[in-house]
Amino acid sequence: MSAELILRSKELFARVFQEPANVIVCAPGRVNLIGEHTDYNEGFAMPFCIGKYTVIAARRRTGATCRITSAGVPGAISTFPGDSSLSPGPEGDWTNYVRGVVFGMLPMLPGGSCAFDAAVVSDVPLGSGLSSSASLEVATATLLESIYRLGADPKGKALVCQKAEQTFCNSPCGITDQFVCACGEAGHALLIDCRPPYATESVPLSDPRIALVVADSNVKPQLSGSEYPDRVQQCKDACAAMQAAGHSEVRHLRDATLSMLETVARSHALPEATVRRARHGALRPGDGISEDQRTLQAKEALKACDYAQVGRLMFASHASLRDDYRVSSPELDALVEIARGVPGVHGSRLTGGGFGGCTVTLLSRSAVPALLAAFEAEYPKRAGGRTASVFVVRPAAGAMLLQQGAGAEPLAGAP
Ligand code: ADP
Ligand code: MG
Repeated sequence: MSAELILRSKELFARVFQEPANVIVCAPGRVNLIGEHTDYNEGFAMPFCIGKYTVIAARRRTGATCRITSAGVPGAISTFPGDSSLSPGPEGDWTNYVRGVVFGMLPMLPGGSCAFDAAVVSDVPLGSGLSSSASLEVATATLLESIYRLGADPKGKALVCQKAEQTFCNSPCGITDQFVCACGEAGHALLIDCRPPYATESVPLSDPRIALVVADSNVKPQLSGSEYPDRVQQCKDACAAMQAAGHSEVRHLRDATLSMLETVARSHALPEATVRRARHGALRPGDGISEDQRTLQAKEALKACDYAQVGRLMFASHASLRDDYRVSSPELDALVEIARGVPGVHGSRLTGGGFGGCTVTLLSRSAVPALLAAFEAEYPKRAGGRTASVFVVRPAAGAMLLQQGAGAEPLAGAP
């Protein structure tokens, strides 16, 4: 967490609202190490928070009006009601992430309403697949939790944020991003069982012998189209077909086996494309493994410090996302192949929804300079002259209250 970011949030607040802020909260961006497109199938994911944060400087008000500004959207102050008359703003409006969270938390607030002024700054790149959206949502929820002194409930907060993105931002997102933003721990990845009641396990990921590198392809994910909802629908269609074939226990792909899927595929009840999507998410005993099994195996390998095995699983995850789930892009494939050629790299894969965005690479710390040099030399050749934005990340802490009090003094133990 950069001290400069906190300072910038206070300055923005003071400039816009002509008064000092008296509460500062933050929530991080995230990278998913493995377990992609599994959450909405009630499977497993293993993300971690990165040391890039959305910071909100704020002040509670009386009444039921919320005012918010963001350094990322210069000039504008948005105003919306902090009571049950609150509705989404125009489609694509950035405040919908905030409005959705406020709306979802109203029942927990005294009198069912709230009022605040808030200024947002962030060093999470927007729209690059590092989940600036979940970071903004969870920071908003943490703000309300702090100014109304609600008891801490990270999982409940994550669920409110997911619903906010689904209902106010029209995105059928899973639970991974909001969960890790709210519950992540420094130095750890978070294994999430995405089936209610959402069991989690913190998995140590701070071995000084290894490093994690994020490479942004600098192609923005084009998820505003139907690609993501189509995948969600294909997974549902596969489950419905298995149920119709007598496998009533298949409520989600989490419940399916490969042989069930094969029976349905042989009867031509499903298009070939749907079968391939389901193969990524279904449990696959016998002749191969699915993303869920890779994720659980990666957790065990991480705990045993078997990074070569984690890396193999990451490469296999990428191949499945590229070939069966079809969410990769030529640029993401290029980044993964460049990483594969560097000695000391254990594994690499696309991270996030796909169709652009970032890759994550696990490697020996000593191999970092060679990887950076390879991305710099090779990526432009394979990506039409485009360069990648590359940075080393360390698993960082999840959302927190940073400062509170008259002049927003740092809390004991806060960075
Ligand atoms: P990602 O979550 O991968 O960054 P999304 O498209 O899901 O990409 O979310 C990006 C959107 O979230 C932005 O276009 C903007 O509407 C909103 N957003 C996130 N952070 C901020 C911020 N600091 N200021 C204003 N809007 C933000
Ligand atoms: Mg997002």
